[in-house]
Amino acid sequence: MEVILTGTGSPLPDANRAGPSTLVKAGETQILVDAGRGVVMRMAGAGSLPGLLAGVLVTHLHSDHICALNDVITTHWVMSQGNATLQIYGPVGMAEFVDRQLHALEPDIGYRIEHHDVLTNPPKVDVTELVPGDSFALGEVQIATAATEHAPVRPTVGFRLEHDGRTAALVGDTVPCDGVDELAAGADVYVQTVLRRDIIELLPGEMAQDILDYHSGVVEAAQTAERVGAKRLALTHMVPAPTPEQYPEWIAIAAEHYSGEVIIGDDFTTITV
Ligand SMILES: [Zn+2]
Ligand SMILES: [Zn+2]
Repeated sequence: MEVILTGTGSPLPDANRAGPSTLVKAGETQILVDAGRGVVMRMAGAGSLPGLLAGVLVTHLHSDHICALNDVITTHWVMSQGNATLQIYGPVGMAEFVDRQLHALEPDIGYRIEHHDVLTNPPKVDVTELVPGDSFALGEVQIATAATEHAPVRPTVGFRLEHDGRTAALVGDTVPCDGVDELAAGADVYVQTVLRRDIIELLPGEMAQDILDYHSGVVEAAQTAERVGAKRLALTHMVPAPTPEQYPEWIAIAAEHYSGEVIIGDDFTTITV
């Protein structure tokens, strides 16, 4: 199984980091987790395309994680000439979000159907709203879900993907909680969105301080990884985004609490398990 960090950015615009998304390739099955800014470009860079996806899994409805889902839907639709159905799984609220996206795309959908004789129908999208604890299969991959904690964003859901005896936990934005522990337990790789609490506490402005109470810090992600015996910890969606010169410092902070391998994500970082 390959876990490709297709977007390691956050809401803060960054020329080198697309918005949050992760592509998993397992045998013949490809699954996208979240669809942040620039995701389709990054999928192309990773040798993938929306038409190759068995499904899209969404952790929560914060804009940075879903703002390019419309591009996934449209590209999937056009490149399949309207024939394929895109499977989308997400928390309660997902169906309405997708429905509203399709409404926003109505002019485009109309133009393309009018222009292309082979295109006769709007995008086919099948949305499943998950109750944490649900499990299901997509292609060759078995997927387990659990509730995460990112209040006031509710509900939020994390995923554990299993293929050929290998597991990857992709949990989205969350503070440490039982759901994350469950998903990351013994995982071959645990991917966690993180911030640097010690840096953000020094920043001016109330909005910067607000983000502290609903994200995992590097320390907490490392503590979780150690507590549940995750084999690798991959950090993504880092706030503030470190420069490569700062990576050793981030790794050293995590290593104070975690004895496994720590990976600082760049766009296209690929973790093979
Ligand atoms: Zn969020
Ligand atoms: Zn986020």
